[in-house]
Amino acid sequence: GAWLGLLGGGQLGRMFAQAAATLGYRVCVLEKDPHAPAAAVSEMHLCAAYTDRSALEKLGEKCLSVTTEFENVPADSLEILAKMTKVSPAAKSVSITQDRLDEKSFLSSIGAPVAPHCLIASAQDIENVDENLFPGILKTARLGYDGKGQIRVKNKAELTEAFNTLGRVKCVLEKMLPLWREVSVISARNAMGEATTFPVSENEHRDGILAVSIMPARISQEQADKARSIAKHIVNSLDYVGVLCVEFFILENGEIIVNELAPRPHNSGHATIEGCISSQYDQQVRAMTNMPLGDTTQIQYTVMLNILGNLWFKPDGNKFEPDWDKVLAFPHAKLHLYGKLDARKGRKMGHITCVGSTPEEAMKCALQVCDAIGLPKPEHI
Ligand code: ATP
Ligand code: MG
Ligand code: MG
Repeated sequence: GAWLGLLGGGQLGRMFAQAAATLGYRVCVLEKDPHAPAAAVSEMHLCAAYTDRSALEKLGEKCLSVTTEFENVPADSLEILAKMTKVSPAAKSVSITQDRLDEKSFLSSIGAPVAPHCLIASAQDIENVDENLFPGILKTARLGYDGKGQIRVKNKAELTEAFNTLGRVKCVLEKMLPLWREVSVISARNAMGEATTFPVSENEHRDGILAVSIMPARISQEQADKARSIAKHIVNSLDYVGVLCVEFFILENGEIIVNELAPRPHNSGHATIEGCISSQYDQQVRAMTNMPLGDTTQIQYTVMLNILGNLWFKPDGNKFEPDWDKVLAFPHAKLHLYGKLDARKGRKMGHITCVGSTPEEAMKCALQVCDAIGLPKPEHI
């Protein structure tokens, strides 16, 4: 009954806490929101900010090891904890991934391919911008997620306007690339230096938010091997301990580019719970406790559908609770609800993993579930 600490209380933390409990650990979560999804399934909840010194000290004293489910935990908080207990991932790794420019510089330095880009932090930077970066996407260097904090720009005038709209904070301008597919690889590494990767996931976004993940991705064996080896190279180079997700673009010409990193389990890896021998959450528990990692082999095909708060809204704007019986009627559909009290449009409320013994069977189930509950269907069938 040793205690594990968790910074952040969202759904990734909830599934982590469930995996930790299965392995006999007790979880203490540090999170301000009293109704957070992870708090509801953890034995102890410190209801405080991530920067609250006394809460951090309590967590550090109590726990054998501490992890996070949220990339924007202040690096200082991780350093305070690191003086008291094991912390994974380390502050150093997390802080690289908190800044898109630092992240891209790190990736380039280890030979991982990234999109052509430049820093935009002043009017002078806009003046000097390389015209080859247009059309491009201006992204805030810090704190963006689900496509928030980024604006597409075609020329200098639009870039100036976008920079002002984003509040004139440190930004990165990235060249817009011709995407064929978006995929991701989740990797886990422990302190002994053992590293594993999960099969590649193929991801479809809608309005900047992940909508569907298909595992394994329908890409060539060569592309899959390449993506997994880049992910392994990244965790090894960071001397990373914990779970990390690498988002990739596959371009129309077949080239593979790293989009961004997430220093935690990832939405595109939810299906590892049903799909693989060990889930990404099992790996997180194993990595932080210095245990050998589990086998990531996929044992059934999966199509994961995200459930957003949009499903709660009728066309007239009134809210209702979706009829989950319609999902549960499909024996191959596994429903996960995060226990969030307030459904809002664009908010991640749950997901459904459709499983099959063939890719076609998993996809057929997903299409039927979409019809039954009113979710938008995967685009690339
Ligand atoms: P997340 O929620 O995954 O953290 P984010 O807000 O950090 O998202 P990105 O992953 O950088 O945003 O970009 C969101 C989406 O915008 C990508 O998944 C991709 O569809 C598109 N996109 C981003 N950068 C580029 C690019 N350079 N070229 C083409 N499309 C891009
Ligand atoms: Mg991101
Ligand atoms: Mg992304």
